[in-house]
Amino acid sequence: MLEGIEVKLNCNYFDNREEFENIANKIIFTGAIDEYYNYCFGELEYRSVRFETEILDKENYQGNAVVNYTEYEVPYTRIIEHKHFEFGTQPKTVISREYSDKWDRTKEPYYPINDEKNNALYEKYRKLADKDEKVIFGGRLGQYKYYDMDKVIEQALNCVKKELN
Ligand SMILES: Cc1cc2nc3c(=O)[nH]c(=O)nc-3n(C[C@H](O)[C@H](O)[C@H](O)COP(=O)(O)OP(=O)(O)OC[C@H]3O[C@@H](n4cnc5c(N)ncnc54)[C@H](O)[C@@H]3O)c2cc1C
Repeated sequence: MLEGIEVKLNCNYFDNREEFENIANKIIFTGAIDEYYNYCFGELEYRSVRFETEILDKENYQGNAVVNYTEYEVPYTRIIEHKHFEFGTQPKTVISREYSDKWDRTKEPYYPINDEKNNALYEKYRKLADKDEKVIFGGRLGQYKYYDMDKVIEQALNCVKKELN
């Protein structure tokens, strides 16, 4: 798909904003919309997560790649046992406990928090974006919306159809 297209990895758009803005007529931006507009209406809130990873001296811990924990008393929300994604047969196993974490600008904004307050703030950014002909905002952070993998691909395909028609 990317044959003949220059790909640059590990570049933060905001570290070289001027360069990126001037290499194309149109930009598809999948980072955070509030950051793109320098938080001009204020900061949207996100939920971050952190992982605690452990190597266990046993072949199998939970028999499954992911187990969710919803009890109030349990501090993590799920345990990932990586080998089960690949049907691994190693004598040891690696597990990661996933904890919800409060987001600040030093952390990864994993999930939007789509409550009334944040949705209203996002609407202000969306209206600004509607007037901006140079940029298309896509995905979770660009559209401040929770998307699973299949939904985000659907959204990207619909966006292409709309743009190319
Ligand atoms: C822990 C976890 C587990 C998940 N498990 C599942 C699952 O089991 N099934 C499922 O369907 N979905 C799952 N998801 C959700 C899935 O990852 C998302 O639906 C999908 O990745 C969303 O695609 P996206 O394009 O919106 O965002 P991303 O895939 O995050 O793409 C955004 C891209 O923009 C880049 N970017 C952001 N800011 C900048 C910047 N300033 N400069 C340059 N580049 C930037 C990022 O590096 C990234 O490559 C999971 C998500 C998480 C966090």
